[in-house]
Amino acid sequence: MAKIKRILVVGGAGFLGSHLCEKLLDAGHDVICVDNFFTSQKSNVASLLGRTNFELIRHDITLPIYLEVDEIYNLACPAAPGHYQYNPIKTMKTSLLGAINLLGMAKRCHAKILQASTSEIYGDPEIHPQTENYRGAVNPIGPRSCYDEGKRAAESLFMDYYRVYGLNIRIARIFNTYGPKMHPFDGRVVSNFIRQAISGNPITIFGDGSQTRSFCYYTDLIDGLIRLMENDQNFIGPINLGNPDEFTILELAKLVQKLLGVQENFIFKELPVDDPCRRQPDIALARKKLNWIPKISLEEGLSKTIQWFRQIDISEFRPPTPNY
Ligand code: NAD
Ligand code: UDP
Repeated sequence: MAKIKRILVVGGAGFLGSHLCEKLLDAGHDVICVDNFFTSQKSNVASLLGRTNFELIRHDITLPIYLEVDEIYNLACPAAPGHYQYNPIKTMKTSLLGAINLLGMAKRCHAKILQASTSEIYGDPEIHPQTENYRGAVNPIGPRSCYDEGKRAAESLFMDYYRVYGLNIRIARIFNTYGPKMHPFDGRVVSNFIRQAISGNPITIFGDGSQTRSFCYYTDLIDGLIRLMENDQNFIGPINLGNPDEFTILELAKLVQKLLGVQENFIFKELPVDDPCRRQPDIALARKKLNWIPKISLEEGLSKTIQWFRQIDISEFRPPTPNY
């Protein structure tokens, strides 16, 4: 049997974090989930609380914490634009101080550490699809910069801990990922569209809907993260993880309405400042280094996500920011 590890998942009560915790527990590991519940809630991990190899700690990662662990996944950061712009200074602190605190822990414990970075480090990209050697076109002073520049600075810190101390790091650049347990009020495009269409409301399209994204189902993404952490060539990245199937936002809206069997009905709103026009991961490196490719199509993933949205009681989810 594979070695049982003590694994810390920071941001472990969030959408991706809670799925990651579950997968690691299923593999038999001891999992510690640290979260301040800023954009999540305890119900995401409630089903894990009875498991003897699971521990939940409410803690803000901008403050130091001392734990003894073998591996660290750093997922702590508000990820939806409405959430990370709600308190942009705190977002930057979470990326920077969180990385510093966790890199210090990894150094002290000789632990392996993975950073959940993002396609946003490419900004509004001038090359398409985006490869890992592209340096990006980020507006350093715009409303998205607290997130984009925070994530870029965290990558920089990870690389310096690698170069200076030989830390065993991993950097994953995650592209838009969706699925069950997304916060229904996070304002992200998939959760917004499904929630709006289920309740019979028109879908809000920002701009003319011609901007593109490439959507990855969460099971594929979690598989990629674990492969990156566990790869035995000590490949550190940065590496793109995402589904390369690219769709316009209007195509996504139409597909959601088709799957729900409702009439096409849209409201067009102003495009947010610095909203990237196109986004598609080049995943050749992930294919080569991790033997990883996403398996779930957008239609299949959306159907499963819709099933989850149908069964939840939306009134049990607190709108986390006044934005929606
Ligand atoms: P999420 O908002 O559901 O999860 C983030 C979690 O971090 C939440 O549980 C939140 O409460 C917690 N958190 C925030 N600030 C914290 C702090 N200071 N201390 C402790 N916990 C804190 O979002 P997600 O989609 O699950 O994203 C997880 C990670 O993956 C994020 O770092 C995000 O930037 C990255 N990512 C996600 C996507 C995506 O499409 N889902 C894309 C790119 C990158
Ligand atoms: N979007 C939209 N309507 C919504 C929410 C989002 O048209 O109700 C658009 C948004 O402008 C962006 C895309 O959908 O072009 C993806 O937005 P999201 O917030 O999910 O993530 P991003 O990739 O921009 O971080």
